[in-house]
Amino acid sequence: MMNICQSCGMSMEGEGLYGKNKDGSINTDYCKYCYPNGEFNKPNETFDEMVESCIPFEVRAGFTVDEARKRLIQNLRTLKRWR
Ligand SMILES: [Zn+2]
Repeated sequence: MMNICQSCGMSMEGEGLYGKNKDGSINTDYCKYCYPNGEFNKPNETFDEMVESCIPFEVRAGFTVDEARKRLIQNLRTLKRWR
């Protein structure tokens, strides 16, 4: 089963992409970009800011900006950080 970062929705294939807890152990809920060292990289980031920051990746995958925003709002709101 593939783990999805519960903050940004990125699929984490392999331990190298997982986040880290304060004690240096692996955190399997979040990716290394969102959760590098026991706390969120941007602790005050809002849901809307996260959606906007993910749009370029979806656009690169072939979606328009509007499609990307709609998909991200649907997908990200189901994740642990944003529930
Ligand atoms: Zn992430």
